[in-house]
Amino acid sequence: MSTTPTSNFIRTIIDADLASGKHSIIVTRFPPEPNGYLHVGHAKSICLNFGLAEDYRGKCNLRFDDTNPEKESNEYAQSIQDDVRWLGFQWDGEVRWASDYFEQLYGFAVELIEKGLAYVEDLSAEEMREYRGTLTQPGKNSPYRDRSVAENLDLFARMRAGEFADGARVLRAKIDMASPNINLRDPAIYRIRRAHHIRTGDAWCIYPMYDYTHCISDALEGITHSICTLEFEDHRPLYDWVLDNITIACHPRQYEFSRLELHYTITSKRKLLQLVNEQKVSGWDDPRMPTIQGMRRRGYTAAGLREFARRIGVSRSENSVDMAIMEGAIREDLEARAPRVMAVINPLKVTLTNFEGATSREADFHPNHPEFGKRIVPISASLYIEADDFAEAPPPGWKRLTLGGEVRLRHSYVMRCDEVIKDSSGNVIELLCSIDHATLGKNPEGRKVKGVIHYLSCEHAIPAEIRLYDRLFTVAEPDADREIDFCNYLNPESLKVVQGWVEASVKDAAPETHYQFERLGYFCTDRRDHQPVSRPVFNRTVTLKDSWTKEQS
Ligand code: ATP
Ligand code: MG
Repeated sequence: MSTTPTSNFIRTIIDADLASGKHSIIVTRFPPEPNGYLHVGHAKSICLNFGLAEDYRGKCNLRFDDTNPEKESNEYAQSIQDDVRWLGFQWDGEVRWASDYFEQLYGFAVELIEKGLAYVEDLSAEEMREYRGTLTQPGKNSPYRDRSVAENLDLFARMRAGEFADGARVLRAKIDMASPNINLRDPAIYRIRRAHHIRTGDAWCIYPMYDYTHCISDALEGITHSICTLEFEDHRPLYDWVLDNITIACHPRQYEFSRLELHYTITSKRKLLQLVNEQKVSGWDDPRMPTIQGMRRRGYTAAGLREFARRIGVSRSENSVDMAIMEGAIREDLEARAPRVMAVINPLKVTLTNFEGATSREADFHPNHPEFGKRIVPISASLYIEADDFAEAPPPGWKRLTLGGEVRLRHSYVMRCDEVIKDSSGNVIELLCSIDHATLGKNPEGRKVKGVIHYLSCEHAIPAEIRLYDRLFTVAEPDADREIDFCNYLNPESLKVVQGWVEASVKDAAPETHYQFERLGYFCTDRRDHQPVSRPVFNRTVTLKDSWTKEQS
């Protein structure tokens, strides 16, 4: 797999900044809010920010934007750190927190007040909305806009001291109520909120707003390129206004790229939380979730996800990506990494009537990786084959087993089906077959056998729970229509749990071990529920081929 970075407009900007001497080193950051688990869109942003730092030998900070105490938790903060590390990245120095800067942020707010550039607002939230105007109508000035500096300083100090009720007052930047950019119509920069904060506890009852906090945090950390998604483009003038009006040496530049939208799933923390809360999935790490935890548990690899991020690139145009691109990258990574073994998901019993004298063969775990080792693939008088591999009335072109026909058992003999046994309702319950003893590792004499099927020896196979995952939604853009609840499009077939059989060579596999089950797909032992030997549990990561595109076209 290629690891060459693909050029993009941000790299072009960085190249120019380094060439002109504007920067000698680049510093980026990944700034999640610890209010949920990270999803595939965040993975893109992580690969971009940390990837740039790696490629240019710069630095990338991990900074929590922890300014909304009600929604934030240590559980989320911890999982985010785990996810970044699992993806293969390491932040520069310690984890950083916007809350580490609360005192400085407060000081800069005082500076703005002193310069006549911020004021304490007494209007209610609703009144403020009325005064704000609309896209087509300018706003109008609040009656409190021209308070004296002294009065503003006094009121702001008393806001901090807890003299006023939650929501009673806010601190606003004094910019321009007639600006065509609504973000510049005197945005609130501090609000009163008595909420316990995960790091500062009850030390503060006022919290800075995101836009105000973000640019100052970037500047305090010496970020050179502050990269965010396009919805912040209209916030950039505010980002610049704040930094232009306070005494701070550094002025990072903000660049926006388009957010990743992945078909057949959703990338909104709020909606993912809804799926968890309404128990549509088993949790944030349900293997159907597009969260990093979910994808990991399903068996997606970090290298596969990084490759996916590389392939989709970074631009300012719409980034709506088909799941097939993601699955393709994962498959390619697993293709080279996963040992190949046999498993039977939907067993049909086969009895070999001439088993006497047959021998078991040794086989490689991977055709191109002899270093993965070998194991014995046992054969015995009773076998399981995949029920789908037998057809009494085969369609044209059938290469698998049929009555009177022959197939090669993978790594073993050529086998012929001599008789079909059915139950009283006519279902096939067993096949009586015979092997050609002269075909172990050799082609049969005088005839060609085209089909190869996988099998297991009943007495050697071990039972396993196999979880067959499919897409979580039945339509490409489940949340495209605001009027329709995206939950209506949940795929009822997104999880099927079956009891199947796997070859004994996998019995000691640790959790999170990847395999290819030959002809069935890539599977991974479940991180939570799998126990070596006593309780094997396998998750289907992805099928071997993209069955969706085929079905759809
Ligand atoms: P919220 O709605 O809670 O703000 P968010 O997805 O923006 O959700 P953040 O924690 O603020 O969550 O995101 C951290 C970083 O990840 C931001 O820089 C954001 O731009 C980026 N990011 C979030 N979603 C995507 C996405 N779908 N594609 C690319 N980057 C994303
Ligand atoms: Mg955000």
